[in-house]
Formats: sequence, C-alpha cells, structure tokens
Amino acid sequence: MAPLIGSPAAAFATARTRTRARIVIAGSGLGGIAVATRLTRMLDGAQITIVDQKEEHNYQPGYTLVATGVWPVDKVRDRNADFLPEGVQWVRDRVVAFDPVTNSVATSLGQRIEYDYLVVATGVHLDYAQIEGMDVAAIGREGLASVYPSPEAALATWRTMEAFAQRGGHALMTLPATPLKCAGAPLKMTFMLRDRLHRAGTLGRSQVQFLSATSNVFGVPAVNANVLERWKSLGIGVDYTHRLSAVDIGARRATFTRPDGTRLEKGYDFLHVVPPMRAPDAVRASDLAWKEGPFAAGGWLEVDKATLQHRRYPNVFGIGDINGTPRGKTAATVKKSAPIVAHNLVEMIAGRSPDHGFDGYTSCPLITREGSAMLIEFDYEGRLVPSLPMIEPLQDSFFAWMMKVRLLKPAYVSVLKGRV
Ligand SMILES: Cc1cc2nc3c(=O)[nH]c(=O)nc-3n(C[C@H](O)[C@H](O)[C@H](O)COP(=O)(O)OP(=O)(O)OC[C@H]3O[C@@H](n4cnc5c(N)ncnc54)[C@H](O)[C@@H]3O)c2cc1C
Repeated sequence: MAPLIGSPAAAFATARTRTRARIVIAGSGLGGIAVATRLTRMLDGAQITIVDQKEEHNYQPGYTLVATGVWPVDKVRDRNADFLPEGVQWVRDRVVAFDPVTNSVATSLGQRIEYDYLVVATGVHLDYAQIEGMDVAAIGREGLASVYPSPEAALATWRTMEAFAQRGGHALMTLPATPLKCAGAPLKMTFMLRDRLHRAGTLGRSQVQFLSATSNVFGVPAVNANVLERWKSLGIGVDYTHRLSAVDIGARRATFTRPDGTRLEKGYDFLHVVPPMRAPDAVRASDLAWKEGPFAAGGWLEVDKATLQHRRYPNVFGIGDINGTPRGKTAATVKKSAPIVAHNLVEMIAGRSPDHGFDGYTSCPLITREGSAMLIEFDYEGRLVPSLPMIEPLQDSFFAWMMKVRLLKPAYVSVLKGRV
C-alpha cells in the first residue's frame, strides 16, 4: 500500500552515516530538493551541491486548478530558497553536460563540478518545437491554450477558456504519444472545459473533441475505459492516432498527422496543446541516457526501475520525471521514491548494495467537474493500488476534489521538507 498523504515518515531512519562524499544533485524541483533534504539528515560530513538556475519553485500539480479558474496563480508560486535545506550549496546555473566517466558535470557558465555520487533530477523537456508553428508566447491569444509550461501559461489558458466558454464553439484537446508528466492533466482539462461550457450555458452550441496520438486516452486500461464511458455520456468525441503536428495560430487551424503520413487540417475556436515530452538535452546527449529500448528515443535516464540506480554507472541515481521507467511521472511518485533513492544512495556510501525497491507508485486526482474528482493510484504494472479506504477508485467524489484543492499542496510541501 502506498499512501498519498501522511505515510510513516521515518520508514528508513537510521543513525547518520559519516562521510566526506561529494554529492551533486542536478535539478531543484520536487525530486532534487526532496532527496537533498533527506541526505542532509542521513549523512554527516557530506558535501552536497544542487545545480539549478530556477529561483521560483512552482507547485505544478496546481497548474490545472489555475488553468480552469479554481485557484489564483499565486498559489503555485514559491521561492526555491525557502525549501532548500541548510548545508546544501546551491549553484545557480544549468548543467549542460554530464560526464559519468570522469564523474563531473559542466555548467552553462563554464564551471566543472566533480562528484562521487550524482542524483539526476532535471524533470522533462516540453518539446513544443516538434509542433510546427507553435509559439508558447502566444498561449492566451487566438484561442490557444496549454496548461503545461508555467504559471503564466496556466493563467493565460484560463483567460482563453473563460472567453471561449462565454461564446461556445469548437474545441480541440490534444494528446501526444510520448511519456507525459501527469498524464491525467490533458483529461482534467477536457473534463473542466466541458464543465465550464455547461455552467456558462453554451454547451448546446459547442463541440469538444479529444484527439489522441495513440490508441487510447490513458495508459491504464481500467482508467481509460472509465474515462471513455464518462466522455460518451458527456458528449465528448474522441479520435485516435491523430498527432498534432502543426498549428497556424493566426488562422486558428490545427494539422494532425496520421500513422500513414496523411495530414488532416481542422479549424478551432479553442485548442489545448499538450507538447511531446523528452529528457532535457544535457541528459539525452550524455551516456546516462538509455541507448536502446522504449526509453531511448526520449533520451530518458537509464535507471533500474526498482532501485532507481543507474544501470551502468552505480554512483548515479535518478529521481522524478527524468527516469526512464514505465509510468511514474507525478509528484506522488517522488513522494514515495525520494526516501528510497536517499536510502539506496546512503547504502552505496556505506559500501553496501541498494536494498530498497520502488513499485512505480503513480497517482493523479482526476478532476471530472468543479466539486468532483477521482483519485487514481496505480503501479508500474498498471494495477490500481488504492491507498485510502474511504475513496473508491474510479468513483468520483467531493472528498477527492477537496483533497486535490486543499490537501495535496501541504502534502507536496511536506515531501520537500522531508516530513513524509
Ligand atoms: C500541468 C501539470 C499537472 C500536474 N498534476 C499533477 C498531479 O495532479 N499530481 C501529481 O502527483 N503530479 C502532478 N504533476 C507532475 C509533478 O509536478 C511532477 O511529476 C513533479 O514536479 C516532478 O518532479 P521533478 O523534480 O522530477 O521535476 P520538476 O519538479 O519539474 O523539477 C525539475 C527541475 O530541474 C531543473 N532542470 C532542468 N534541466 C536542468 C539542467 N540541465 N540543469 C539543472 N537543472 C535543470 C528545472 O529547472 C527544474 O527546477 C503535474 C505537472 C504538471 C505540469
């Protein structure tokens, strides 16, 4: 069982291990800070350096609430400095190259930092560039929406959605074929758009169409079937194997490419773009990336899916969205796996082998309308693994909505601060 909120905090608590090891953590998002916090408590004498140029810390799971008019944008904005644990050196820069042979990273300002142990926590790269004509700066204009890139884009998406809901019209909601962080977010945006049209009284003169680049809308079969059933009764149409390949923003026309190469153009009044996702360039171009298999194309980090240790460089671990593992790109994944990564890394420092395994726990409160959500929890195999006895999986409830809106940000902050 993998509780989403309030797990036993000190599951792996041990006496502090004395070491002079140099540990570099690349990325100060949820995963990087969660591991750094734990290592500072578990180690005595280690030199821990975190590299990231980002000053603002964004609560990304809140973006869907901002983008659908539920939260003000300030609720997803905090300062990284408030979460970084004491004793960790923060290099405000970006890693441009990983060299696991010389155990060093190079930064954009020309620094070379050597390490004994490395934790890769860079998250994903949103590859909007794969969509011809797409311009992230244009989100919020001409019916163009996308919840993913930033708090500003989430807010601009809400402004666009609100204006569209007043008039109604033709909405296109897209889904790429790559692994996604929070694969539920495109579905939440679709449910909420339909809800906003309903509340504005414009549903009758509107059409909502979901275009997936794959042959489903969600990778877990039970969830996929449940969502499709709901959409059928809500009048949301679905097209499969339609990949958004180009957009003409001014003309409000989107082009979809089919597997046989044929292209199909569609006009729209509202377009929600979900970008293809891959590893950031520095990881993808390095020897740390998968070289073959399903994660090679995206350049994802080659880790063992249980220990989250690199499969070829044992002094390297991965945490969070960057990992080339089946599923598992959510904040809830980090909550469950950060203690495992910290523990396994300390075991290595102590001269032992990593002995804690991760089951791929992934969770997503799937909003179905304002005031209702389903709490979806599953593992690497796609098995549903409900953690809260009062919440029935695949059943939407006000309780799950309240969790999403009220409880999950405090739970996220607890992960950053190492309280869970
Ligand atoms: C719209 C949306 C909705 C979501 N909804 C949910 C939800 O409901 N539930 C849930 O559990 N999760 C949700 N998530 C997912 C969750 O936010 C992520 O899974 C989580 O933030 C992953 O943490 P991370 O540390 O791997 O990546 P991030 O938190 O993205 O952090 C990565 C960090 O690495 C840095 N970085 C990147 N490249 C480099 C480099 N070369 N050098 C140094 N630093 C670098 C970045 O600046 C960033 O600070 C959602 C995400 C989005 C975008």
